[in-house]
Amino acid sequence: MAAETLQSLLRGLSAPMALGIDEGGGRVRCVACGHRCLIPPGRQGVCRVRENRDGVLYGPWGYVAGIQNDPIEKKPFFHALPGSRALSFGMLGCDFHCGYCQNWLTSQALRDPAADAPARPTTAAELVARARAAGALTVTSTYNEPLITSEWAVEVFRAARRAGLVTAYVSNGNNTEEVIAYLKPWLDLYKIDLKGFDDRRYRKLGGTLRNVLEGIERVYRAGMWLEVVTLVVPGFNDGDEELRRLAGFLAEVSVDIPWHVTAFHPDYKMLDNPATTVASLLQAHRIGKAAGLRYVYAGNLPGRVGETESTFCPHCAEPLIERRGFHVLANRLHDGRCPRCRADIPGFWRVPQRAAAAGAGVG
Ligand code: SF4
Repeated sequence: MAAETLQSLLRGLSAPMALGIDEGGGRVRCVACGHRCLIPPGRQGVCRVRENRDGVLYGPWGYVAGIQNDPIEKKPFFHALPGSRALSFGMLGCDFHCGYCQNWLTSQALRDPAADAPARPTTAAELVARARAAGALTVTSTYNEPLITSEWAVEVFRAARRAGLVTAYVSNGNNTEEVIAYLKPWLDLYKIDLKGFDDRRYRKLGGTLRNVLEGIERVYRAGMWLEVVTLVVPGFNDGDEELRRLAGFLAEVSVDIPWHVTAFHPDYKMLDNPATTVASLLQAHRIGKAAGLRYVYAGNLPGRVGETESTFCPHCAEPLIERRGFHVLANRLHDGRCPRCRADIPGFWRVPQRAAAAGAGVG
C-alpha cells in the first residue's frame, strides 16, 4: 500500500494525544519520544504517525497491525514471570529506521512502500479479553516502537491492569522524562534495545546514543523492571572495545540489569553483513561478565551457546532457571530466591498483589 494511502487510512484511527505541549502560533511539541518534534499545523513528526491538526496533536488510536501470544522469553524478558505468555500487539511506524529491523513490515510501513501491514480496528477491552482467553499474564506493546503510540498503550494497559495483567514495553529506549512520567503508573516491564555505543552509527539509525543511555537511566530510576538487549551485528557493533564500553555503562547503572546479547541474521537492508557466530556471541557474553554484570544471556542461537541461556545464582552458582531458546526447562526459584543460599534474585517474579485476582506467580 502506498504510504499516502496508508496514512489517510490511519487518520481515521487516531485521537487527540496527551503528550503534546502548546508552543504558540498553532505549533505543538510532541514529547512522546526523544526527537521532541516541534510540529507546525498540517505537518507530522519524524515518526509520521503523529500530526498537528489545527493546533492539536493527533496520534494512533484503536487499532493493531499485528498480534501474537508469545512466550515472555521472546520479548526477551528472562527475569519476569518465566515460562508465561505475553499477549503482544504492534502498531505501525517508528521513530528510528534501522537497516536490520526484523519488524520492518510494520515499523517502516509509513516510509517504505515495500512494507505493508494491515491495520485492524480494535478496543482495549477486546485486546485484554484476548489476552485472558489465551492465558497470558502480560500485555506487551511491541513489534514497532511503542513510545510513539504511548497514549493508546496506556488505554490498553489501564484495562489490562483492571483485569489483573502485567504490562510491558519493548522499546528502542529513545524516551523522555515526560513519557516516562506518563507511563510510570501503568507500565511494569521495559525492555530497551541498546544498539551499540557509537553515536555516529546511532544517528544513522535515526537516534542519538546519549538519549538512549539517558533513557535507560530514566527507566531504571522510575523503578520499572528493565532488561537490555544488544543485537550483535558483525562489522557494525561487535568490536570488543565498543562492547566493553557498553557493558561498563550498564554495570554503572546497575550490575543487576539483565543484558541479552543476541545473534544477528541478515534482514531488510542489511543483507551483506554475515550472521553472528557462536564464538562472537560468547565473546560478547564474556565481556558482559567481565564488566561485572551478573546476568548476561546469549540469545538467538538456541542450544549452541552452552549455559549462557540460563540463570545462575551470582552468590553460590546454583542453576536457577534453565532455558533453551524461549523454553524454560526448569525453574528452581522460590519466591524470587535462590533455593540453596536464599539470595534474592532481582526480577519481576510474581504478578503483583493488585492483580491477585488474576492468578498466581510463576517463580
Ligand atoms: S513520537 Fe517522536 S518522532 Fe513522533 S512526533 Fe513525537 S517526538 Fe516526533
